[in-house]
Parts: sequence; structure tokens; C-alpha cells
Amino acid sequence: MSSVENFLTLDEEQAIVQAIIQAERNTSGEIRVHIERTTTVPHFDRALEVFQQLEMSNTKAQNAVLIYIAVDDHQFVIYGDKGINEVVPENFWESTRDTIQQHFKEGNFKEGIVQGVLKAGDELQAHFPWDSDDVDELPNELSKG
Ligand code: CA
Ligand code: CA
Repeated sequence: MSSVENFLTLDEEQAIVQAIIQAERNTSGEIRVHIERTTTVPHFDRALEVFQQLEMSNTKAQNAVLIYIAVDDHQFVIYGDKGINEVVPENFWESTRDTIQQHFKEGNFKEGIVQGVLKAGDELQAHFPWDSDDVDELPNELSKG
């Protein structure tokens, strides 16, 4: 089995999906998580590549956010679309990043991702509150490379 398959159990994957659904109850923003083993390009560049592959730049308010994780590289990137970057301060993702980092350091990957997703939802809520005519624009599922 690859390290990506070993990284999370099925139950843990389900918990992450539930976190995405819960987070998106607070915000019109769309959150996705992509996990892969490693990459040969800089992680930020790779996150952008995945963001485009998952067609995450197609949301109406350009407010999708990707949590990208390269398991073997021990790296992750939080990548938000244009619509988010236009209205938030530069250090906007800092607290979400800290939350994830803290759990990852303790080897608690599922909890790191779950708490990171929920935190991202909380942070997005201030700028992109959930609306009654909100549409779920991107699938609430885990993406694996
Ligand atoms: Ca939405
Ligand atoms: Ca969604």
C-alpha cells in the first residue's frame, strides 16, 4: 500500500468529509482537501496545479480553498482563490496553518485536517457568509493523488 493509502483510515476520511460539509454550512466558500505522496515541484506550485486540475477556480465568488498535503514530504499548503485574497489580510491563513501544524507535529493527521477544515470555514465565514441560496459548487470529498 502506498503511504497515501496508509495515511488515513476510511473512518478518518469520512470524518474529513463531514468536516467539509460542516464548514460549508457557515460559508459560501468551497473547501477541498487533496492528499498525495510527494511532488517534484515546489509545494506551493503543486498546490496551484492541483487547484486548477480540480477546477476549483470556477466558483462564482472565486472563494474556493484547497488544503494540499504531500505526505512523504511532510508539507502542506493552504491555497485560496482570487476572490478570497482580494478581501483578506495577508496573514489570513496563519491560524488555520497553525492549527494543522500543531496536530501534524503530534502525528495526528486526521485531527489536523479536520480542525484545519473547520478553522478555514470559520475564517471564511466573516468574508463569505453562508447564504440561503448557496450552492455546493465543489464535491465534498477527499481527493487523492
Ligand atoms: Ca457553496
Ligand atoms: Ca463543497
